[in-house]
Amino acid sequence: MPFLRREAPDENGVSRSVIVFRLLPLGEVLTTAEDTPVPAASSRPPRVTKVMAAATNEPRSDSQTSTGNQNRITSARMPWVSQTALMFPTLHALRELGGRADIDAIAAHVADQLGLTQQQREIPNPGVDTRPKFDYDLAWARTKLHTDGLVTNPSQKIWSLVESRTTPEDELAKSHFLKTPKEAEEVPFEMFGGEDVRRTSERKVRTNQATFRFDVLARYGCECAVCSIDESVLIEAAHIVPKADNGSDDVRNGLPLCLLHHKATEKNVALIRIHPETLEVICTGGRSYEELRVTKSSLEELPKLPNKEALEYLWEATGAHLADE
Ligand SMILES: [Zn+2]
Repeated sequence: MPFLRREAPDENGVSRSVIVFRLLPLGEVLTTAEDTPVPAASSRPPRVTKVMAAATNEPRSDSQTSTGNQNRITSARMPWVSQTALMFPTLHALRELGGRADIDAIAAHVADQLGLTQQQREIPNPGVDTRPKFDYDLAWARTKLHTDGLVTNPSQKIWSLVESRTTPEDELAKSHFLKTPKEAEEVPFEMFGGEDVRRTSERKVRTNQATFRFDVLARYGCECAVCSIDESVLIEAAHIVPKADNGSDDVRNGLPLCLLHHKATEKNVALIRIHPETLEVICTGGRSYEELRVTKSSLEELPKLPNKEALEYLWEATGAHLADE
């Protein structure tokens, strides 16, 4: 946690509580209601693999159960874990392929998104289907998306996105809200380690951005964390530890914020700050909630909370910016 080694910002009134907070053990998952292990659903096999290594080699500060371990082992063998977990990658594949594609192109794109090896793509599905498990699960995902009205099947083997007021991707996120698997809560939070954008292909960057948005909207809902705007075209998936600071795409490093409040909370703007411990939404420079159109005084109104370390990082960064002004 590099930010712990920094000098504390010299701020009147608030620095005391920040320092006290830093002395507390960090790293635990914020929530308590999310400890129940459930079948994991991950669309990101590389992260799951990393987590397995971390779980083996490092002491864990978050809650971990034998069922959680079981899930992780399953995750490593079957990177897409569940049929439901293939729904978003299927939509994203269709998006990237121009809104319409045949099932082979979709399968290749999804496999690429998930980083599947040919061997993983060919894992058989005995007793269920003659197709490999991947193709069978993809077919299930397409059927489910079709049932949900998010894709159509205009001719044999051809599928297309159904565009409406919001994108099918956002519609799927909304339908997953409050019933998403809790896999993200079971693994240690990674604050940094976003891929180096300069060395990542444009397509991979788009996939990461789209996946992060989907994860954020599915976890927190499609309403701004500090006001009541819920028009999805006005909602962005904000990184709490900014991408520019190598902030990770861990969903707990995210918040749904409207365009206005995304800008207002950026570390180099800091019109609005969020206290990492009390979760209070604070307008800086004597500005009022009315002036900045804030209608939620605390992040506690969110159905799930972001990671405390990430909020602490942003608190320090915004504090440093205000001190420089
Ligand atoms: Zn807002």
